[in-house]
Amino acid sequence: MTDDTRATAEELAERVRDGELRLHELEDHADADAAAAARRLLVEGQSGASLDSVGDYGFPAADADPNIENMVGAAQVPMGVAGPVAIRGGSLDGERYLPLATTEGALLASVNRGCSVLNDAGGANARVLKSGMTRAPVFRVADVVEAEALVEWVRENEEKLREAAEETTSHGELSDVTPYVVGSSVYLRFRYDTKDAMGMNMATIATRAACDVVEEATDASLVALSGNLCSDKKPAAINAIEGRGRSVTADVTIPREVVEERLHTTPEAVAELNTRKNLVGSAKAASLGFNAHVANVVAAMFLATGQDAAQVVEGSNAITTAEERDGNLYVSVSIASLEVGTVGGGTKLPTQAEGLEVLGVRGGGDPAGSNADALAEAIAVGSLAGELSLLSALASRHLSSAHAELGR
Ligand code: NAP
Repeated sequence: MTDDTRATAEELAERVRDGELRLHELEDHADADAAAAARRLLVEGQSGASLDSVGDYGFPAADADPNIENMVGAAQVPMGVAGPVAIRGGSLDGERYLPLATTEGALLASVNRGCSVLNDAGGANARVLKSGMTRAPVFRVADVVEAEALVEWVRENEEKLREAAEETTSHGELSDVTPYVVGSSVYLRFRYDTKDAMGMNMATIATRAACDVVEEATDASLVALSGNLCSDKKPAAINAIEGRGRSVTADVTIPREVVEERLHTTPEAVAELNTRKNLVGSAKAASLGFNAHVANVVAAMFLATGQDAAQVVEGSNAITTAEERDGNLYVSVSIASLEVGTVGGGTKLPTQAEGLEVLGVRGGGDPAGSNADALAEAIAVGSLAGELSLLSALASRHLSSAHAELGR
């Protein structure tokens, strides 16, 4: 920090203490770095904590302006890479290092081991099979008769809704509107192709415009732009079933000798473990995630590439399958609702933009949407590597204890 910045920060902090300025107004009176420094002085004075490390960030605070209010610095999460791993995707084809930011020791080592095994098997397939960001406003109607009228109107006038919604965006396209009725509440679940944007802002703005059309043409009253049937940042079966964001699958067939030599287990042991743990165990727990630890890779790659961290909730809606096929091991991971973007949100932050560059997917794709698809495929392959590594670690431990018990 320069002497000038420190002097400005001290003056700003004093003015806040005097009640002349409020904490969120500092950027109106100084540059973003001085404003952050002033807040650190205030917090340090109030709490007794030192914020030296929080204040030691590696990009101009102004770059984070759209992403944070009341900035004091940055919480720095260590970032590493796994791979490179061979990805044979619909949008990403080639070898890539996977950037992962985490505080969980052993995660990268585990994913790295999985990537190495995927390479020995010739690489992993990946495809985005469905795409659509949703927003579901809730309307109040008088009774079921009005609810039926609203549903019919929506079915007959989807084109009017599309026109209004798409006027608000040059990239977004309305895919469909699905009505749900509960008593006198009607939910319209709007689904958009948001191309390379994760799309939550885009879908919300577009849906707002469509709601105006609904209110003008019907007796329904908008209660909230989000009626929770969207469903954002909460565990919800609708996302696990219908999908939200990208629905993406990665799979691989690993030769038996690779499973035995590299993973010290067998295709049969991994398949049995997957059935008893990821399928039966998850069913008994009534889990939405039928996997071992997909959220680990989703969270770490979200942090490394500027995704909305709260949407790891939806990213954990994944099913892992494993089967012995002709003596070899087939493994797949299907993530139903992976909400990712390569433009907008946190993707512009300098460190996160570099994370996207490592994958070669920064910014808008050609065609639009292909970069976000590629990012989804990379995360799915990373998740497959993580599943493979953990499942085989568990299976080999089981095998070794079984061998010990059997005296061989
Ligand atoms: P955004 O930054 O609001 O919008 C993305 C922008 O990128 C759009 O305005 C779009 O312009 C533009 N764009 C340029 N090239 C594009 C391309 N190739 N494909 C798609 N768009 C392109 O981001 P968002 O993805 O809509 O929303 C993400 C943000 O929403 C995150 O910060 C997240 O934390 C936040 N969020 C919001 C809500 C909410 O309810 N509002 C909920 C959860 C999260 P055009 O639209 O003009 O085409």
